[in-house]
Amino acid sequence: MCDRSCPVLTVPGTGYWHVDGTLGQDFAGVTCKTMSPLGSRGLTVHNGRMIRLTMRRATLSATAAANASELVNRLSKLGNPFLKTGLDAQRAILKSKRLVEFEGEGESRYSPTIRQIAWGEIFIANGELYLVAEEINSGGRRFFYLGAVTDGTPSELLEEFTKEIESALKIELKPFWYTTGEFDELKEKVQEGFEKPLDDEIAMANSLTDRDLRSLAIAIKQSGGLLVSDLAKQLKSAPRADVGAIRAQMDEAGLLVTETVVMCRSTSRQAFRVPSSQAITSLSAQGVRCGCGRPIDEERQEDAVSLTDGAIKLLDKSRWLSIIVHKELIAAGVEPDRILIEAMLEGDEVDCVADIGGELTLFELKDKEFSLGEAYSFGAKIGIIDPAHGVIVTTARVGADARQHLNRALQYRDVGRPRRHPGAPGPRDARFNIVYVEGVGNLGDEIRKFVSGIAKRDAMNFADRVIRSRRISASDIVKSVQPAVPRQAVRDTSVG
Ligand SMILES: [Zn+2]
Repeated sequence: MCDRSCPVLTVPGTGYWHVDGTLGQDFAGVTCKTMSPLGSRGLTVHNGRMIRLTMRRATLSATAAANASELVNRLSKLGNPFLKTGLDAQRAILKSKRLVEFEGEGESRYSPTIRQIAWGEIFIANGELYLVAEEINSGGRRFFYLGAVTDGTPSELLEEFTKEIESALKIELKPFWYTTGEFDELKEKVQEGFEKPLDDEIAMANSLTDRDLRSLAIAIKQSGGLLVSDLAKQLKSAPRADVGAIRAQMDEAGLLVTETVVMCRSTSRQAFRVPSSQAITSLSAQGVRCGCGRPIDEERQEDAVSLTDGAIKLLDKSRWLSIIVHKELIAAGVEPDRILIEAMLEGDEVDCVADIGGELTLFELKDKEFSLGEAYSFGAKIGIIDPAHGVIVTTARVGADARQHLNRALQYRDVGRPRRHPGAPGPRDARFNIVYVEGVGNLGDEIRKFVSGIAKRDAMNFADRVIRSRRISASDIVKSVQPAVPRQAVRDTSVG
């Protein structure tokens, strides 16, 4: 883990890979940015900042109206009140105490609804932003929001802000996130086939993200078991010398069963397999002989490996890839409830759909090259599910013709629909876009970057609405010069 609590990478043993490929034991003073993927082994590191928006919300009763200035004073113990500081300075310049401070955000630039922020403040503490806001919806119901904008997981300040607000307003803030009703509608219609993975299964899936390890595992699965001496022949891309290390890694992850194979010296064929060479000693003592007549303990013995049932289950239908995507989405802050994996929709298989900050995102997962045929089928699913974003994850590459097809088919896609949650930014103004993730080595980073992009837009929109709720009105600025203006001039220019 890096010091921002992001998983840096998983390697057997301890230590961190540095950019020059050396295994460093001393992490002090080394930032994540100095480390980079180790290419061929598919190891990745956290290589950038991510924005996370963590929100909490409570309903405000008519009597629990927030005493804004008192609350801001209390919260100022925890962070710097950014807007109040600016407004105080502006009041000092204008030499007026009379300026309207809490005016409300007025007509929203983003949302056509009447939901408005009545007032809000932005606190800055420890390099994190804490946004507080009181919102009034069209029915007159009032809500109090706390939003933490952080780089990665929020610090303990989130709990401190929560406690202070709860005690000041006598409310209970509950976790809140923007959602889209489109996801709930979809959830009603599909049958989810995903079995939640156990911890050891997640660990096994993690080790399968290594390309060489995975291709070796697939070769073992397809052959039903391989002699250890034949393993190196199966390695296509890695140096053959690595096979011992890869086998040890597979063994440690619980993917392998090692057995002893008895080879007939006369026919050079496998006579039978036993769990260990001790079994051969005991069978031999009972007089068991090879088909050729030789006592079996005189035949050649070799180690052979096959896959555990757990490993076979993970490779079937690329379950390991679903598990990794599921894990990375949750690690990036997506609610587990808002993720559908391996779902069937009217006979079509949907690999993954997630509601990310109220934006429906369709994932296609392929444990091989993403080719033209897959592009057609993905295009059709986009037509049916109508997501805001598409993400294609392939362990290999996306074919040029597949990319061309999708670009052509989707370039005029209208994504101008507003999102369901009125507080969330909408309408989507960007052209429908597909994110291509080639190779699973950087899957975690790509998913974090994607989720972070949505959180960043939401955080900016939230901050923008809060800022607009705290402006000094133009009329007050103009009125502040009135005493100095001669009566005549006021009449002449019609300034009221
Ligand atoms: Zn024999």
